[in-house]
Amino acid sequence: MTSNSTPAAASNHPLPSYLDPKHLGPWGIYLQQVDRVTPYLGSLARWVETLKRPKRALIVDVPIEMDNGTIAHFEGYRVQHNLSRGPGKGGVRFHQDVTLSEVMALSAWMSIKNAAVNVPYGGAKGGIRVDPKTLSKGELERLTRRYTSEIGLLIGPSKDIPAPDVNTNGQIMSWMMDTYSMNTGATATGVVTGKPIDLGGSLGRVEATGRGVFTVGVEAAKLSGLALQGARVAVQGFGNVGGTAGKLFAEAGAIVVAVQDHTGTIFNAKGLDVPAVLEHVANTGGVGGFKGADKMANDDFWSVDCEILIPAALEGQINAKNAGKIKAKLVIEGANGPTTPEADDILTDKGVLVLPDVIANAGGVTVSYFEWVQDFSSFFWSEDEINARLVRIMQEAFAAVWQVAQENKVSLRTATFIIACRRILHAREMRGLYP
Ligand code: NAD
Repeated sequence: MTSNSTPAAASNHPLPSYLDPKHLGPWGIYLQQVDRVTPYLGSLARWVETLKRPKRALIVDVPIEMDNGTIAHFEGYRVQHNLSRGPGKGGVRFHQDVTLSEVMALSAWMSIKNAAVNVPYGGAKGGIRVDPKTLSKGELERLTRRYTSEIGLLIGPSKDIPAPDVNTNGQIMSWMMDTYSMNTGATATGVVTGKPIDLGGSLGRVEATGRGVFTVGVEAAKLSGLALQGARVAVQGFGNVGGTAGKLFAEAGAIVVAVQDHTGTIFNAKGLDVPAVLEHVANTGGVGGFKGADKMANDDFWSVDCEILIPAALEGQINAKNAGKIKAKLVIEGANGPTTPEADDILTDKGVLVLPDVIANAGGVTVSYFEWVQDFSSFFWSEDEINARLVRIMQEAFAAVWQVAQENKVSLRTATFIIACRRILHAREMRGLYP
């Protein structure tokens, strides 16, 4: 086999349909991303097939008794994409549209993200097909505990460490931690991250993802000659990630001119009063109705005059329909998968610099790593210490991505994949195949 040929496909069994690269969906997008980096992997390309299959995918039935006495069954998943570099790490999503394909893709992107910032984890992800808003608190607790027991085969502080994702939070992590601890007979705070501070959570975790978004944004602005002072910023999603990033950019002298969330879009050419917007969101649940701003049609958000655009809400928001309208010079992906592959190409053709999710929003998992380390040593760090370590890791990781992008004349997304895939496959190669 030549050094950068792909492994002998003929010797592999035909792929099951959900692993088929022609199967559209998040997993298909991920497979295309891996194909794009394979030519840059040199002799490690021999191992690339390892990235195209999850190591383990567990589907579980989660039956619970509802408050009205009926029995309801929900489908749950835990996927460990790759464990070459360490235990699995990745969140748990509760959403009615969760599918195995989506969880597989999210677990693979966790492998890439964890390797890109060089935290010693593989990639994993979990989920339950449920709309948690339809459940009572008791039903939600029973669902979480039964799911945790069902995936107990896979998780553990040294095996696979879940965390919050869409519609899961510190309360759900507390129930997961307690269930695992009851089943194993010892309190194991390190089995999940994103816990409340009183249960071994870490200072700085809540703001970590937004702080990471801001940190890579500052670095990219410096390298591309964009002055932050007075730069106009538009943010989609003003929750944990977008709200923190918006606040930090405003504190650094940028002007947040537009914010969109599920309640509408607000605009002020002179700059929104970000602390006041955050207070309004905390009091009312969204930016809609904020005084001190003009209302804007949701579709017009994408064509706002700005230098920096931060999608920090949902997947697939920047797509073939709106990418052409974007005026920003810098797009910083706070959300996971906010840009479709077609939109990515449109933005590249327009000369827009896209800081991809796999590096831009890695601040959350980085501080989750700090939480896990603190739980293991039962020694807790100050918030300043955590923020300083986070910023250093994000700066170093971003500098490496920038350099690889320049050297190979590729996008920052492909550069991040090159670095991460090399790290994962080198670990794979050094470990060798067992038996
Ligand atoms: P969040 O629930 O705190 O905030 C989500 C925001 O998106 C809210 O402002 C909501 O109003 C807005 N939103 C929802 N539907 C919308 C719509 N249709 N149009 C416009 N806005 C809409 O969630 P979060 O933790 O800030 O996560 C946001 C994104 O960042 C998700 O993609 C998540 O996977 C990703 N992410 C989060 C973290 C983290 O640590 N929280 C880490 C990595 C990635």
